[in-house]
Amino acid sequence: MTHDHTDHGKWSEAGVPKKGWNCIGIDDLEEPSQTCEMCGTAEIRYVHYMQHPDYPEELAVGCICAENMEQDYVRPREREKRLRTLASRRKTWGLRQWKVSSKGNPYLNVEGFNLVLTHSDRGWRVIVSNRSSGASQTGRTHYELEADAKQAALTALLWAKDHLNQG
Ligand SMILES: [Zn+2]
Repeated sequence: MTHDHTDHGKWSEAGVPKKGWNCIGIDDLEEPSQTCEMCGTAEIRYVHYMQHPDYPEELAVGCICAENMEQDYVRPREREKRLRTLASRRKTWGLRQWKVSSKGNPYLNVEGFNLVLTHSDRGWRVIVSNRSSGASQTGRTHYELEADAKQAALTALLWAKDHLNQG
């Protein structure tokens, strides 16, 4: 325990596990607006939700505490980097001009991928395809608004760059 922050908050409380935590989700609050529940000091924007089999509550913590709780100094940073990329791309993503396919579906060809929105009674869905391999994935979420589906298409693109890029 050489880092100062581990003297604070739950790090010094008996009965709180200090390692063996798993991250079950991450969230971008858009500005530092919450205090890390583990050290009780760090003001955080990117929240890592942590769970432990021997602890009754989930804790919402910052990156440094997540690293220590997981004993992993790579993955928490990668998770956070992904959210940062998403946040910075959101700004310009909304300005993109979508085209309309012969079937009447809005689409974008971007960075080697094809993004298409399809509409049914349940709402809008995003389909992303790798344009060279043809590998494709249909999003599970239905959006009521076309604009929300267009925002979700960015998440789909970033996902596809990690998962559909082997062709
Ligand atoms: Zn902390």
